Amino acid sequence: MEIEFAGAAREVTGSCHIVRMNGKTVLLDFGMFQGRRSETRAKNAALPLAVREIDAVVLSHAHIDHAGRLPLLTANGYANPIYCTAATRDLSAVMLADSAHIQEKDAEFLAKRQREAVPPLYGMRDATTAVDRMIGLPYDTWFDVVPGMRAIFSDAGHILGSASVTLECVEGGTRKRIVFSGDVGRNGLPIIRDPKPPTGGADVVILESTYGNRTHPPVAGARDQLARVVSETAARGGRVLVPAFSVGRTQELVYDLHILAREGKIPEVPIYIDSPLAIDATTVFAMHPEIFDQTEDLVQKVQDLFKFPLVRYTRDAAESKALNSQHGPMVVIAASGMAEAGRILHHLAHGASDPRNTILIVGFQAEHTLGRRIVEQAPVLRVFGDEVPLRARVEVLAGYSAHGDRNELRQWLDAVRDDGTREDGGGATPDVYLVHGEPEAQDAFAEQLREAGYPSVDAPVPHRKIVL
Ligand SMILES: [Zn+2]
Ligand SMILES: [Zn+2]
Repeated sequence: MEIEFAGAAREVTGSCHIVRMNGKTVLLDFGMFQGRRSETRAKNAALPLAVREIDAVVLSHAHIDHAGRLPLLTANGYANPIYCTAATRDLSAVMLADSAHIQEKDAEFLAKRQREAVPPLYGMRDATTAVDRMIGLPYDTWFDVVPGMRAIFSDAGHILGSASVTLECVEGGTRKRIVFSGDVGRNGLPIIRDPKPPTGGADVVILESTYGNRTHPPVAGARDQLARVVSETAARGGRVLVPAFSVGRTQELVYDLHILAREGKIPEVPIYIDSPLAIDATTVFAMHPEIFDQTEDLVQKVQDLFKFPLVRYTRDAAESKALNSQHGPMVVIAASGMAEAGRILHHLAHGASDPRNTILIVGFQAEHTLGRRIVEQAPVLRVFGDEVPLRARVEVLAGYSAHGDRNELRQWLDAVRDDGTREDGGGATPDVYLVHGEPEAQDAFAEQLREAGYPSVDAPVPHRKIVL
């Protein structure tokens, strides 16, 4: 059997690994490459293998860098199963529809600039057919993928429905276990459960390494900081403007604001969730209480986590614009997470120059994004082509990261290795292949793992194949 690292190899996005055995071919993830449009378009359009060769897909979670190219498969005639958790299937329905919409807009933009027709990578119909192929399965239950290969999902604690995947492959009398981490979350994140490392040992671990060279502040503490920011801003009569990803981060913020409101730790100011995608994603969250972290107080006490008297959901564009003429303090949570697009832009155009306001940054801000300019406290921002002086206060909350840091990744890997429940009595140290990380983070992490007793650690280049 063979594994080919077809995406997220020496980079973070485009997650895709191809497993071939018994004459069958299975994809782990089929994600979108993200970054500068000029560089990613051709990369996303190129398929790493013929669609007719693919017998099944196993999907770790709904983020676009893992699921975003699945509609490209169905657009090319793919009609075999895509296995994932039930929540991943439901979240994919809203995320792939949103992605199709972005592809169509992008194609329109390019067509205008190049004055010739540019087809979108895929359309709404392809997104729908991809979701139709998805089979939603429970965690911790084996299922057959292709003859000789079975798989099981463990909670990766990263976003709702996220999974690590164990593949057990039998070929010609040899049995191999391949563990694919997916994206590994952190202990203590709101709503979702803590990561649960797969049990039973592994011959090979394909491990994400996004923060392989970083440590995060603890999750605990982020909520208190959030309370302080809201209270201080409201006392100045200002607004808290939060650029946030619509899926995951927005729901965590609503959840934490709900707790703070119940405890009387924030003043009674309206909280606007100003994003149609976030509203749809929140509906999906509310559909899956069975996978919430039952050890959390609010989860036990409250029927509806995402509804409370202060919170308002604005779907309509006109409603969103009307917020600008409203008076008094408020909190506005809007996409996009790095302030590159979306409704947050008109809130920033209107509110960044007012010293009473706060711009609250809750996620990673990539280079060359407006969010990064805000973090760096640039004196002037460029929004919709206009110059806006940055006079609002800027606050950064790093505790909400959805990815484990190098210590948390290492603990996760140790737990996979040291689990003693393997049937054949083994417990050997697995070969580790680092994926989903920038080269700098991967090289530092590989070194750390070698020192910690993992003799075989590698960060494969794109399309590198290994034979098991
Ligand atoms: Zn992810
Ligand atoms: Zn990812």
